[in-house]
Amino acid sequence: MIKTEVVIVGAGPAGLGCAALLKQMGIEDEELIVLERGEVGESFLRWPDSMRFITPSFPCNGYHQTDLNAITPDTSPAFNAGKEHLSGKEYAKYLNMVVNHYKIPVTTQTELLEVSSIGPNDGFYLQTSDSEIQCKFLIWAGGEFQSPSMNAFSGAELCQHNTHIRDWQALEQGHYVVIGGYESGVDATFNLANSANKVTLLDCKPNDADTYDPSQVLSPYTMERMKSIADNKDIDFDGEFEVSSVYKEGNEYVVQSTDGNEVRTLFPPINCTGFEMDLGPVSDLFVYQDNGYPWVSAFDESTKRRNLFLAGPRLYHDPTLLCFIYKFRGRFAAPCRVIGSELELDMSVMKHYRQAGMVLEDMDCCKQQECFC
Ligand SMILES: Cc1cc2nc3c(=O)[nH]c(=O)nc-3n(C[C@H](O)[C@H](O)[C@H](O)COP(=O)(O)OP(=O)(O)OC[C@H]3O[C@@H](n4cnc5c(N)ncnc54)[C@H](O)[C@@H]3O)c2cc1C
Repeated sequence: MIKTEVVIVGAGPAGLGCAALLKQMGIEDEELIVLERGEVGESFLRWPDSMRFITPSFPCNGYHQTDLNAITPDTSPAFNAGKEHLSGKEYAKYLNMVVNHYKIPVTTQTELLEVSSIGPNDGFYLQTSDSEIQCKFLIWAGGEFQSPSMNAFSGAELCQHNTHIRDWQALEQGHYVVIGGYESGVDATFNLANSANKVTLLDCKPNDADTYDPSQVLSPYTMERMKSIADNKDIDFDGEFEVSSVYKEGNEYVVQSTDGNEVRTLFPPINCTGFEMDLGPVSDLFVYQDNGYPWVSAFDESTKRRNLFLAGPRLYHDPTLLCFIYKFRGRFAAPCRVIGSELELDMSVMKHYRQAGMVLEDMDCCKQQECFC
């Protein structure tokens, strides 16, 4: 049985961002373990080669405007990659550099399998794929990439989820149907069309919300890509096609809408409907809001179990969904402050985080902010 104070599950931007902050507060190596079932930045390593960040990176940290994809105030993915729109592999390399710089103790190839409570305030027993750990604080930063949405419509299992495609150019050429017209659907369409395929892109949500927030409308990067393929005669876009089911008839896949229309293709339709709400082995230790997101306290702590915290894109503080790195990194401070004060760590680094725009406390800032032109 390994005993430690803090276990963070997931070596993605959320888990490593929290770990880097705790390290800067002076947590000792034996007090912290980051568990990762794959490699550092595993989700990013699985992105298709052609996939790029939609949020641009720029090394403007010195001016209190931290690179949008940085997870600490003093690092910048743009600086090490020399690029604005990084690939998944380039971002995973950045995360590895963060691990090395802050000397974060990450145990890779180790999956958290089960969590049990020692007592209401006494921490957790963790069963991993190769050890047992006892800890006082647990931060779940397991992300969403591992849980593709397979229930958005009936027959979804016949489709190929976009996260399972490693290389768009390696696919056989022909006519593809892409379901879901948000960021990943447009990315799929763009890549398929650029490999000389015919594409039908189906979506049912209007993209005319009166906001600039990329959580609700397409990002400028994606809009720009959409425009660049607007005149491509091989792309059909149906913005009023709500998919009800997919089934197979002979060698064809039939995609049917709720109002009886259909599109046929010889290839499994590409499912770009996002991810399930799956918190893995800590799922039962949270209570859920009506929209499916977990309830968390002002410290991003489970409302059901003390000392269990959530970090990353599943944080939803009504009305704000913190689904991008530049959003959820503002919450690294929430669990780390609680843990730092209980472990009597040096919290002076928080001033630096605040100055760098990496402390987000007032969620109404996002509700009321306007972009006049
Ligand atoms: C195609 C795509 C493009 C995106 N583009 C952008 C963008 O441009 N800008 C932006 O800000 N965001 C973007 N995002 C969102 C961003 O990638 C995620 O919000 C981010 O990865 C979440 O970080 P995370 O650390 O919570 O999760 P992840 O990066 O997924 O990390 C979670 C880690 O936890 C590990 N893990 C899970 N379960 C366990 C377990 N039981 N035991 C041990 N380890 C476990 C996983 O292996 C993984 O490495 C994009 C997402 C996708 C899918």
